[in-house]
Amino acid sequence: MEYEKIHKLHELIASGTMAESQGPYRVGVDLGTADVVLVVIDGEGNPVAGSMRWASVVKDGLVMDFRGAMMIVEELKAEVEAIMGIKLEKGATAIPPGTMGRNAQACNHVIAGAGIEPVGQVDEPVAAAKALGIEHGIVVDIGGGTTGIAVLKNGELMFTADEPTGGTHLSLVLSGSYKISFEEAELMKRDTRRHKEIMPTVLPVIEKMATLVNDMLEGHQEYQQYPVYVVGGTAYLEGFEAEFGKAFGRPVHVPPHPLLVTPLGIAMFG
Ligand code: ATP
Repeated sequence: MEYEKIHKLHELIASGTMAESQGPYRVGVDLGTADVVLVVIDGEGNPVAGSMRWASVVKDGLVMDFRGAMMIVEELKAEVEAIMGIKLEKGATAIPPGTMGRNAQACNHVIAGAGIEPVGQVDEPVAAAKALGIEHGIVVDIGGGTTGIAVLKNGELMFTADEPTGGTHLSLVLSGSYKISFEEAELMKRDTRRHKEIMPTVLPVIEKMATLVNDMLEGHQEYQQYPVYVVGGTAYLEGFEAEFGKAFGRPVHVPPHPLLVTPLGIAMFG
């Protein structure tokens, strides 16, 4: 598995610069529970530029603050346009598997409102699988609000599933246990210096996520031994890979910058 593109995207977002590249470009927007990420890639799928914001405009995969979401996408679009010196016109979005009808359409309306014509929509773990270039495997996407999986065989999607438990639930547990606000708990969780300390408190939620994924795979014996890749911001937690694997029953892989994998994949559908 080569993770070069993910490292590159992280570097571009952190530095606010663009990579030397020729168009045509493709754009992806990830409207998440905890953050919004806009990514531009070139024809070969190489990251060109990107920008992100922590924001709570979506809850459990559903757009709750339409105007707020639209304004953030507008800001990210303007930032990336300034970096690249071009206009971004079209882009793709993603939704948790099983999101239907108007809820699924909401993400498209958000980017349309921000001036990006929606040209594709994909399930979040499918986007992650695309970014990782997986032929056979199980991609688990643990975002803010949900844990979703995509199972791939010969590069084809076999099935997806989703449950409304994500990083937000870790923060809720921290908030209750340390008697701090949800916002303080979020900050505490993202502070890598505190990861060792908080692990025992959030471990039951991580174990629950592993159980949820095992349940989703029940009745699908043929995929039981497929490699498992865990992406999404929650996988940043130090010790997450080992603890999730222990609870899941076998080792799993966490790629670098797991939060950026799905956004990179969404752009590949742009
Ligand atoms: P969803 O896909 O469920 O709508 P999302 O797209 O916002 O949500 P991600 O961006 O993949 O999801 O991940 C967000 C989650 O990751 C949040 O719960 C956030 O607190 C958590 N997170 C982000 N950075 C870190 C970090 N450094 N350590 C621990 N958790 C982190």
